[in-house]
Amino acid sequence: MIVPDSRRKWLAAAVPALLMLLLAPLALKRLGRLPQTPPATQAAGPLPTAVPASATAGQPGEHPDELPHINAARAMQYVREVVAFGPRPIGNEAHKKLETYLGAHLKGATLEHDDFTAATPDGNFPIHNIIAKFPGAKPGAVVIATHYDTLMRVKGFVGANDGGSGTGLLLELANQLRGAKRSGYSVWLVWLDGEESVRQWSQTDSLYGSRHLAEKWQKDGTVKEVKAFLLADMIGDADLNIDRDQNSTPWLEDLVFQAAIQLGYQSHFFARTLAVQDDHIPFAKAGVPVADLIDFDYGYNNVFWHTTQDTLDKLSPKSLAITGDVLLETARLLDQK
Ligand SMILES: [Zn+2]
Repeated sequence: MIVPDSRRKWLAAAVPALLMLLLAPLALKRLGRLPQTPPATQAAGPLPTAVPASATAGQPGEHPDELPHINAARAMQYVREVVAFGPRPIGNEAHKKLETYLGAHLKGATLEHDDFTAATPDGNFPIHNIIAKFPGAKPGAVVIATHYDTLMRVKGFVGANDGGSGTGLLLELANQLRGAKRSGYSVWLVWLDGEESVRQWSQTDSLYGSRHLAEKWQKDGTVKEVKAFLLADMIGDADLNIDRDQNSTPWLEDLVFQAAIQLGYQSHFFARTLAVQDDHIPFAKAGVPVADLIDFDYGYNNVFWHTTQDTLDKLSPKSLAITGDVLLETARLLDQK
């Protein structure tokens, strides 16, 4: 999800930070974490509201003014089932089985498919983006997206976090949205395909699904309906630290942080800033406000990322709930804008 080159961008951004580091060594936990000026919302925003989880759990949409609480155990179960298919790179059998599995769990939603053939450095592959639409009363839509393919080139890579976590979480979001009357924007859940590069990350070898869908939506005018594009990627890490992303839209990142504060989850958000290359980029280029919710510190120094160590034991249902609740709350805040 991130290009090696964005690490360099990150380091470039870290130079002024290092200066500050020399001046205020105690303010930093460790080298490499950028000190951030707290957004205004942190100081002036509303205090976290204490809502007993039991009061709202599993009752989506019944009390539109209450904070969302997804079913964490159910989200985790989806992730387990997704990972149980094994490695799921574009074009393989497990990938096909996962497509069928997603379809079976999305009964009752209006499904759309964006199917095409991608030319990759290793030849042509079928790519299948899956879109589940949940209608709202207000014209326009909030997109919540993830990718469901897994990295091809690492043998035995099951992508519990990278590919699995977002895929399972969005299925649980579908449960929360199904049958709920939304007074705000429609919500479109999107399982993007072909996020991973086949050989080495580049402009042309990566983001196959998102580049195609963004272009399609630009051509047919759909892009004008999309009020915001929220992306969830690598959000299952038990030690959840969602990074602020310089390639995301600042006001939308602020809104995500406001949602996190309202839920009392702000300690899991934005301690560090990166410039992330991910499925949100093609939509940003198409003029859509975007926010990438990603924790790119998966194991010490991101050591589990793109390795066979990306397994279920590193994940936590709580992290899925934190991300899921914040996504739904951000959508609700967007409704009020
Ligand atoms: Zn990846």
